[in-house]
Amino acid sequence: MPPSVSVVKRRIPLSRPVLGGNEWSYVKECLDTAWVSSAGPFVRRFEKAFARFAGGRHAVAVSSGTAGLHLALRIVGLEPEEEVLVPDLTFVASINVVRYCGAHPVLIDADPASWQMDVGKVESFLREECSLRGGRCVDRRSGRRVRAVMPAHLLGSACEIDRLAELASRWGLRLVEDAAEAAGVRYRGRHVGTFGDVGVFSFNGNKIMTSGGGGMLVTSDARFAERARYLSTQAKDDPVEYFHREVGYNYRLSNLHAALGLAQLEQLRGFLRAKRGIARWYRKALSGCPGVTFMPEVPHIKPTYWLVTVLLPPKTTLARRKEVIRRLEAAGVEARSLWHTAHDLPPYRGARAYRIEHATDLYRRAVSLPSSPDLSEGDVRRCAGALQHALRS
Ligand SMILES: *Cc1c(COP(=O)(O)O)cnc(C)c1O
Repeated sequence: MPPSVSVVKRRIPLSRPVLGGNEWSYVKECLDTAWVSSAGPFVRRFEKAFARFAGGRHAVAVSSGTAGLHLALRIVGLEPEEEVLVPDLTFVASINVVRYCGAHPVLIDADPASWQMDVGKVESFLREECSLRGGRCVDRRSGRRVRAVMPAHLLGSACEIDRLAELASRWGLRLVEDAAEAAGVRYRGRHVGTFGDVGVFSFNGNKIMTSGGGGMLVTSDARFAERARYLSTQAKDDPVEYFHREVGYNYRLSNLHAALGLAQLEQLRGFLRAKRGIARWYRKALSGCPGVTFMPEVPHIKPTYWLVTVLLPPKTTLARRKEVIRRLEAAGVEARSLWHTAHDLPPYRGARAYRIEHATDLYRRAVSLPSSPDLSEGDVRRCAGALQHALRS
């Protein structure tokens, strides 16, 4: 008898989409009708369904989360040589978009109690370093206007967005929410991405739902939505005469991608349910693992557990954490670190960084574990077992 295939251990990926709904039939409809590009009925359907789901008034589909964030900063009026407060610990796209606008990021530390951008430090930065002059917030050291604050809601959880909204209004700042990782996250019952001027979601392949690449800009301001549509379609003023009043972008989502996205959105509630189970299984399986801690839960935030992430014990070195990830990989378990802190990435070494103390520690110790919604309890036990083994040896 040949050995059964189950003996060969299958590699467990970090985050793989589950395409178990209407994906095939919706995409086929695009092909059958030849509506494959940026015009076509699925774009509007996806926008409407997402706006309904998130409770936002207007939704504009875009070609990626990064494109959406770039547009958001343009729409709220960010000008070159102004500043935007952003987290030091986030995916680099959150910070790159500030540079796309010719503006400068001010990197804010992470709060160890939530791993999100520390709102207390945003407040102390504004109080200690900035002045309000005629309704404009000015960074006294650089002399630049601080135009916006752009927190990220990381790992399927949320930052303290209501405190941040209050600070933004007190200091005359625009508030853009990078909700790329936060589809399905609720803060005091309200969906994140709807607290600020603009919220942006990503449907990249590894996010909780995917359109095969894409994003959604959400806003309650009709003028912002209209401007997002305008700028994302090359700022086209006349569809026949190729007249453009300003520099625009090709940032619209295609009908094909929207078809996938809509099919995924229909399944999102099911994914969220599955993820809650997976997070519970990990907690159980790692409860006896000394020094390993989970992302803290905050009572008023309903997380999605997009990526289940743990911290290794406090004394863990960077080299040791890297070795643990290598050992997990060798055991067929795909794991990842958190994003490299931005202040020591080559493009941002000269950027203003405000009192960075904890972001570096989180980057050094964090490991994200496989979290696809179709994992079984056995898969989770295998991943947890591999982690325990990697930590012992
Ligand atoms: C994924 C991600 C983005 C970018 O989204 P894309 O769709 O990949 O362009 C931006 N910010 C954060 C925090 C992300 O995780």
